[in-house]
Amino acid sequence: MLLALTCAALAAGPVETEAGEILDQLLRVDTSHGNETAALQPLVARFQRAGVQAQLLESAPGRGNLVARVRGTGAKRPLLLLAHIDVVPVEGQPWTVPPFQPTEKDGYLYARGVSDDKAMAAAFTAIALEAARSPQKLGRDLIVALTAGEETGGLAGARWLAQNHRDLIDAELALNEGGALVVAPDLSRMESVQIGVAEKTFQSYALTVKGKGGHSSVPPTDSDPVVTLARALQRIGELRFPAKVLPESREGIALQALREKPPLSTALEHAARSGALSPQDDAVIGKDRLANAQVRTTCVTTMLKAAPQDNVLPTTAQATVNSARPTPATCARSASNPTAWAARPGRRTINARVGRRTGRMSGARSSGWAKECASCAR
Ligand SMILES: [Zn+2]
Repeated sequence: MLLALTCAALAAGPVETEAGEILDQLLRVDTSHGNETAALQPLVARFQRAGVQAQLLESAPGRGNLVARVRGTGAKRPLLLLAHIDVVPVEGQPWTVPPFQPTEKDGYLYARGVSDDKAMAAAFTAIALEAARSPQKLGRDLIVALTAGEETGGLAGARWLAQNHRDLIDAELALNEGGALVVAPDLSRMESVQIGVAEKTFQSYALTVKGKGGHSSVPPTDSDPVVTLARALQRIGELRFPAKVLPESREGIALQALREKPPLSTALEHAARSGALSPQDDAVIGKDRLANAQVRTTCVTTMLKAAPQDNVLPTTAQATVNSARPTPATCARSASNPTAWAARPGRRTINARVGRRTGRMSGARSSGWAKECASCAR
């Protein structure tokens, strides 16, 4: 369940109040299956009331993207503030509060999309509105882009904007989600603002086994497609890719070490300091979901499909395996390439269905934008 700090101790001024109002509005609209236009319409009006040029651009009916521009002096090229307002669906999850009705409990706000990524959208909007109302102009235009469809690859949102309306979002610098804001346990202060210097990309694989079909009262006696698929999935479940500490992730790992307790903090500290992992430290890190995912390619089965009803033998059994990887790796292929799987070409197939290219990594200290951010903060 997604949750985020309301940061009661940090929130005080009018910007925070306005961000809270906007967040509340955004959270009440279910954007898990599109419907971004409905969530964004009140924000367009809010921008326009503040005299800010704002427009809603739909990549498909209901799939709205808001682009607003607060004019600066033009001394520098624009800064783009990018956030997405679609969320992943809530079906089949054990929610203890209504997911599309914000609920505040013990200093935390609960609703789908609070931390990913509607709070960021609300904060960006409130900051841009404050800049627009200020008599002092910024040295550059501030562009706010609130987009659709990020959770499904950005085709309806950021990518569509970049391909079709590049001029509206063209900027020297862009800030979006990915880094975390870490607040002290007692909510009294911000401990760190993390910067994402690289992003793990993903590849999805469809594993398909064909069967003969028929009625379940006469099951196959030789090769059952479901059993064949299950064997491959078991191998995938047990697969561990080798661990690797990327130079770009060492500072992040060191920061995580500060927030953990031994033995995890010690193992992370070693990894950050040496840039390598001993088998002992890997055994500790491998047990922690977050730390494990930082140091290795992972893969996991997420979807299964077979017969359309209980008394029908499937003619196709299919699994989707999603691999998150820092470097090119063939998760499903290396896991399920035993002779048993490959024995009958044509009946058993593995296809990479969706993939993204890995972006370039940048050093946390070296890049020009880091300097810019430091001066923005001042
Ligand atoms: Zn997100």
